[in-house]
Amino acid sequence: MYYSDYHLHSNFSPDSKQDIDELVKKAISVGLKEIAITDHFEYDVVGFEEDFCLDLPRYSEKVLQLKSKYKSQIIIRMGVEIGAQPQLTEYFAAQLKEYPFDFVIASCHTIDKVDLYFCKVQEGRTLDEVQDIYFNNILKVVSSYDCFSVFGHLDYVTRYGGEKFRQLNYERQKKTIDKILTILIEKGKGIEINTSGFRYNEGRFYPHKDIIKRYFELGGEIITVGSDAHKASDIVKDFDKAYAFLSEIGIKYISIFENMKASFLKI
Ligand SMILES: [Zn+2]
Ligand SMILES: [Zn+2]
Repeated sequence: MYYSDYHLHSNFSPDSKQDIDELVKKAISVGLKEIAITDHFEYDVVGFEEDFCLDLPRYSEKVLQLKSKYKSQIIIRMGVEIGAQPQLTEYFAAQLKEYPFDFVIASCHTIDKVDLYFCKVQEGRTLDEVQDIYFNNILKVVSSYDCFSVFGHLDYVTRYGGEKFRQLNYERQKKTIDKILTILIEKGKGIEINTSGFRYNEGRFYPHKDIIKRYFELGGEIITVGSDAHKASDIVKDFDKAYAFLSEIGIKYISIFENMKASFLKI
């Protein structure tokens, strides 16, 4: 039995059809004690127009309502997954401070304002070129952002573009990734283990095991585990693999968040 799932989407995200009440009921039925609902909040992405711009008033009202409705059965944290881009530091900081968020995942889904999903940014580039751009983009983001709790699926750049782009070239990216991790640690930020990679035929969670090990080696302490479920049936999927890995590397605590403050939970 797992305590928490810290990355969940409902139909407040345009790429999910999941009813939010049913999502909570499913989380209760699988025995979770705590969840963070983390719907997408994207802005300034080519082709997304207003779709991905989360309706914050309606969203926060609904999550707060669910929080109180189910409080005897499950702890619900109001989270969000922001599509962080270097030019949006001030935008997100200003938007988020108006609402009582418990937990914010910063994720990079784009390069030059284009979502990786569309596979346009990969065209005409090599794996190394795409990964160079992607990790340098993240480096810019973590250097300038403070309004988040953990960095999401740190190396999911391998998900899109086809077979040619699948493998993380960790050796080549190590320097940049070390800089990213060092900044996250200095700022008291965490990373997540995101188990969705198994559902995207990557045969792994994000980020790569070597990155997680390195985060702890460099002194990091904050880790959350999330399924990135866009439908209720994917809640806690492949958590066994994430927890087995944490135990293998001697990690005894995961983090949970309330009002943007981390606390540690023995696993
Ligand atoms: Zn994401
Ligand atoms: Zn997500």
